[in-house]
Amino acid sequence: MLQTALLKASSLLFPMECETCGALLSAADGPGLCGACRREIRRIAPPLCAACGRPVRTRGGKCAPCLTERFHFDRAFACAVYDGKMKELLHAYKFHKKRALKKFLAAMLLECLASRLRDHSFHFVLPVPMDPGKWATRGFNPSALLSEEISRKTGIPHDGASLGRFRSDSPQFKLDKNGRAQNVKGLFWVNHQTFAGKRLLLVDDILTTGQTASECARVLKESGAADVTVLTCARGV
Ligand SMILES: [Zn+2]
Ligand SMILES: [Zn+2]
Repeated sequence: MLQTALLKASSLLFPMECETCGALLSAADGPGLCGACRREIRRIAPPLCAACGRPVRTRGGKCAPCLTERFHFDRAFACAVYDGKMKELLHAYKFHKKRALKKFLAAMLLECLASRLRDHSFHFVLPVPMDPGKWATRGFNPSALLSEEISRKTGIPHDGASLGRFRSDSPQFKLDKNGRAQNVKGLFWVNHQTFAGKRLLLVDDILTTGQTASECARVLKESGAADVTVLTCARGV
């Protein structure tokens, strides 16, 4: 009886199977994902575009889209390329509620942030808010869980309530780049007292065109935020 309870407790703390391939995990694997699956993730490495974090050929340069585009965030970093194993992993996390993966993803985000940004501190970590319609069906905001986990690991206060999102009727993935920029305009609201003069870490699962994160940064800056860093698990390259 006691043994069963202990086993149950330990499997809650430490899931015994890899969340994407089902292989048994060893202690060396850490939470959520086996070593083989971890190695399949295509990590993004410098040199990176100074504006959006996309891999580029020369250090300090900007990627081609950023020569004509201006984002409202100050910098953006992504851990990995959104393909293959990373795609599978985020799908498992978001759509099948594999919440145990949040520990793995949060650790990866923090590792990425530490390697990209030194001598920088944050007043708050916050998630990109989810569409209220999606929230109703999914029951949780995957990015909010990551923000909370980062807060728990670092002590940076998590604020999941001061940046919010109105309901959107047009899914972003059906639109082209210009359509996406228009679609996110006016989609977010912010509590104007909260972020004045603050340095913020904005967390999301994926950066695609960057328009959603940029629009969040725009309203945050409008409400007085001093600096916005975007951190995502993955991005298209
Ligand atoms: Zn695996
Ligand atoms: Zn760029």
